[in-house]
Amino acid sequence: MSLTFDDGNADQLAGATIMNNNGIRGTFYVASGNIGVPGFLTQADLLWLAGSGQEIAGHTVTHADLPSLPLDEAKRQVCNDRVTLANWGFPTRSFAYPFAESTPAIEAVVAECGYNSARMLGDIKSRFGCSSCAYAESTPPSNPFYTKALDQSEITWTLQDYKDAVTNAETTGGWVQFTFHNVCSTSCGQLAVSQSVFSEFAAWLAPRSATMNTVTMPVGDVIGGAVKPLVNGPVGSPVTEVQNPGLETPGANGQPQCWFQGGYGDNVPVFSTVSPGHTGSVANKITMTSYVSGDAKLLPTFDLGSCAPGASEGSTYSLGTWYTSTVVTQYAVYLRTGTGSWQYWTSSPWFAAASAWTLAEWTTPPIPAGYTGISFGLSIFSNGELVTDDYSITEGVAAPAPVAAVVTEPPAEPAAAPAPEATPTEAPPAETAPIEAPPAETPAVVTPPAEPVPAEPPVTAPVAEVIPVAPVVVEVVAPTP
Ligand SMILES: [Zn+2]
Repeated sequence: MSLTFDDGNADQLAGATIMNNNGIRGTFYVASGNIGVPGFLTQADLLWLAGSGQEIAGHTVTHADLPSLPLDEAKRQVCNDRVTLANWGFPTRSFAYPFAESTPAIEAVVAECGYNSARMLGDIKSRFGCSSCAYAESTPPSNPFYTKALDQSEITWTLQDYKDAVTNAETTGGWVQFTFHNVCSTSCGQLAVSQSVFSEFAAWLAPRSATMNTVTMPVGDVIGGAVKPLVNGPVGSPVTEVQNPGLETPGANGQPQCWFQGGYGDNVPVFSTVSPGHTGSVANKITMTSYVSGDAKLLPTFDLGSCAPGASEGSTYSLGTWYTSTVVTQYAVYLRTGTGSWQYWTSSPWFAAASAWTLAEWTTPPIPAGYTGISFGLSIFSNGELVTDDYSITEGVAAPAPVAAVVTEPPAEPAAAPAPEATPTEAPPAETAPIEAPPAETPAVVTPPAEPVPAEPPVTAPVAEVIPVAPVVVEVVAPTP
């Protein structure tokens, strides 16, 4: 048996404590770009986990939907995550595919990055699915880069379901991997196991090593093999322009290629495509209702270098976007760290509402040390409509003073400036498949995932994902009223 935990959610510490108390060692798959973000484990937590015998394992930098990416970007996601974890003191042998999405080409990438195995989901029989499958994976697995596991555990699983998965496998022999996301005490979400059920299961499972010869151990120990050397992902040349700047090329899940629907706070944004655009045939429209706090905006994908433009320390960047809007808008700017995580940086002054196409131009302050990429978008932070198109970014060129468009006096509405983005409320990512792309291994599923789909996509694309925004670490430029 292996008990595995995905995504590095902070409440998994409760699960680890229960395991430690029962002498059970498991595997924690973490996305390094999320470590230290509110709601996720910290490096100190990882040290504690590793120190108590738990295995730290890889899950990409930004919880990326790997098959949707160019192969170079996929390799950065897998390899650089492994390098970062090693640099933090956690040599890794095991990997799990975000969203349980992979292909033979991605399996090869995972092997090239130095992993010994990679876990899928939903290929083991239980009352929740895969009725024609076996009750256990073989040991060793026939394909170590596609190891079969139960469906991810959900709150609907009873203690008996967990026990059944073990006892069923005991009738045939083999290896069973359990996959947990949240370990909850109260207000349990769909992808959670309660602390009480998990405690009872752990207490029941631990003695079976003596009574049934059913041992529970980390994935890396089941697969075996030494920790392989580190491999860096391809560097490539930094992107110097906005990719798909006119939003004309469609991407996954109804979003333009290389863009995602960002935002945070308490509000209801609806993203849509309108025609024609400022140029070309489309532009992006955000209709905001029920606004209480936060904002919404279209942003270049938070990735490691195939969509988001590169940024250099000390350089300034002149940002341009054509827009129409019924309300004031402003740029929200994010930066990518050297290890591939993304953090909110700063915002521009406000730009006035405009009924005709207007160019919003603004030049950023110099990029602080330690950052390698930039993402930006015009945000809407009150009830109204914002249409954008034809984005541009130019390094080191001072923009003309944005005289015409910048609001110099606070408009009557909205009265409140957007709140700083230090406390995002988005839910953490999970293995639920992107809305419009069911997992390849469960093509027969016709019902949508039970988990509510967050409004925001992942760092690298799928709409089912969420981008946690790190606390402001550099400098907050308050919106200029
Ligand atoms: Zn995950």
